[in-house]
This record gives sequence, C-alpha cells and structure tokens, in this order.
Amino acid sequence: MKEKQPDERFCPECGEIVKKAAVICVHCGVSLKGIGKDTNDTNKILAIVLTILFPGAGQLIYGQIGLGITFLVLTIITAYVLWIVFMPISLILTIKHYSQVPQV
Ligand SMILES: [Zn+2]
Repeated sequence: MKEKQPDERFCPECGEIVKKAAVICVHCGVSLKGIGKDTNDTNKILAIVLTILFPGAGQLIYGQIGLGITFLVLTIITAYVLWIVFMPISLILTIKHYSQVPQV
C-alpha cells in the first residue's frame, strides 16, 4: 500500500492519492481546484492566531510536531528564565520604593 507523502492528499471523489498541487485527479479526472479551500482557510486563520499566542502551535496544526514542541518548550523556558531574572529585580525595587516613602 502506498503511503501518503506531505505534498499529497486524497482525492475527495475516488479516494486515491493525488499531488496537493494537482488541479485534476489523475485517477478519476475530477476537478480538484478549490476543494478543501474553506477548511484550509479556517485552519490557516486558526493556526496563525494560535501561533501568535503560543509559538509552535502552527507547526503542531500542520503536522510538524517535533518543530512545534521545540518552539513551544523554548518559549516556555525563555519566559520562565526571564521571570526568574526580572521578578526579583522588580520585587526589590518595589520593596525599596515603599520602604523609602516614610523618609520623604
Ligand atoms: Zn479521483
């Protein structure tokens, strides 16, 4: 049995594997132009919005799981590292600010 490659999809008419770029199915001759466009647009918008919120989400949606997890994990680690660095500085400055107030 033939495996579906990343640049291929199933023909909605006969179910055979065809190239994603194909305009006509080579097996049954049905026109593939525009088929699945709505789904792709919905996925595209969803993927873009989720990627802005969670870097790596787009890759998880279109199937590059490893890359998506890498982006997501690196974002979380980076955010956590920045929190560790800036939270104490901000906390010290805040405590200093309020402890100086009575002296003014
Ligand atoms: Zn077909």
